[in-house]
Amino acid sequence: MNTCMNEVKSEYLKEVIEKIKNKNSFEPEFIQAAEEVLLSLEPVIAANEEEYRDSALLERLIEPERIISFRVPWVDDNGKVQVNRGYRVQFNASIGPYKGGLRFHPTVNQSIMKFLGFEQIFKNALTGLPIGGGKGGSDFDPKGKSDLEVMKFCQSFMNELQKHIGQDTDVPAGDIGVGAREIGYLFGQFRKVRNTYEAGVLTGKGLEYGGSLARKEATGYGLMYFMREMLNANNLSIEGKRVIISGSGNVAIYACEKASQMGAKVIAMSDSNGCIYDENGINLDYIKEIKEVKRGRIKEYLNYVPSAKYMENDYGMPKIYTIPADIVLPCATQNDINLDTAKYLVNNGVIAIGEGANMPCSNEAVQYFIQNNVLLAPGKAANAGGVATSALEMSQNSLRDSWDFDTVDSRLEKIMINIFKQCQAASKTYNLGINYISAANISAFLKISNAMKAQGVI
Ligand code: NDP
Repeated sequence: MNTCMNEVKSEYLKEVIEKIKNKNSFEPEFIQAAEEVLLSLEPVIAANEEEYRDSALLERLIEPERIISFRVPWVDDNGKVQVNRGYRVQFNASIGPYKGGLRFHPTVNQSIMKFLGFEQIFKNALTGLPIGGGKGGSDFDPKGKSDLEVMKFCQSFMNELQKHIGQDTDVPAGDIGVGAREIGYLFGQFRKVRNTYEAGVLTGKGLEYGGSLARKEATGYGLMYFMREMLNANNLSIEGKRVIISGSGNVAIYACEKASQMGAKVIAMSDSNGCIYDENGINLDYIKEIKEVKRGRIKEYLNYVPSAKYMENDYGMPKIYTIPADIVLPCATQNDINLDTAKYLVNNGVIAIGEGANMPCSNEAVQYFIQNNVLLAPGKAANAGGVATSALEMSQNSLRDSWDFDTVDSRLEKIMINIFKQCQAASKTYNLGINYISAANISAFLKISNAMKAQGVI
């Protein structure tokens, strides 16, 4: 398995990786995501190097079909005009309409949008459903804003975005900072401006207006379905394991719910300020109340459970990772776990990592886990349950139908089992052992590249 450039034998791959670095030198997250994928593709590229080179397939794969960047002006509660920057990266639609979430967070920039859009192409291919890859968002920070301000921002954002999306073109959803409230305001404005009830244009909608049961739970539940399959395939089980989960947003909350249902004990969760540790097992009802209802901070958990501990983050490793656990689920943001943190976790006896977030582990951390026989469920595969269920929401919208919770949840479970089987099959074919990250990349790449080849040079 290649982990760095000087182990790569394919000249074509080397050239493409160099090109990515030169052309995108101010986009570190995108370079990181693209390099990780390309290095893992060597066995496939080497087998057919000339064909890939002649069709410039990799150069086409790493260049978004389109990037839209736009001004988002809005007026705050004090009557002051604010200006944010909006993005939509339409990366690859060879297997279906662009599909991927919107992120509202002050750190959003073109590099982060491109890394997320690139990963989305592979994730969506793994679901087996007809969806291409895209991503969008803004550097707007919903934290501390009134509902009215969030609504005004969403309306202004959609005034521009609506020119570029549609149920057969590009279908955004939620991501960090974009939940049910934001999707509602965005959908309302789309409907008003376009004068059409095109329910399939956005997913993650409220149940009253075209949303799907089990969409809210899907990413977290899907992560645990994948984790269960991965552990079972390696003669391990979830039952009785101690779990820590970074983040306390949508993915983290429902990963916690499913992990507990499966018999694990979740002992810690976090937000960007710090983490709570409850050795008796986290009471998720309190977390939901704090995060979903009050939009509060995780340390408020101590108001409900005074015996729990709170640790505030400083500039070092996020405090949650100092707590010993069997299973670690990073469900917050990218590059949360670097090599030093990985070493710390391995030293503390971790047996499995489940990437609920996108690219939460640096490439060096990933390699370290694999070298130390820690099972790693890669984000592109393990957190695909959200987008898969978004595609099921689109199906229900097209059919003018709505399915019950168990129907959607059991389809989600089957999809996640199937994704793990694809990883297992690629691992066997290419002799990758427990390197499910390379297996997921190869499996998705074969599907995407075949679709691109069939459609000619476009
Ligand atoms: P939410 O906005 O619901 O929650 C995000 C959580 O992560 C919050 O607890 C937040 O803490 C924390 N967080 C965010 N940014 C940072 C940061 N820079 N440093 C530390 N903590 C941070 O987002 P989601 O749960 O929807 O998304 C979480 C991750 O999962 C993201 O990587 C996303 O791309 C990925 N994902 C989400 C899917 C979905 O269906 N929602 C699908 C697939 C992947 P705080 O409140 O303090 O900011």
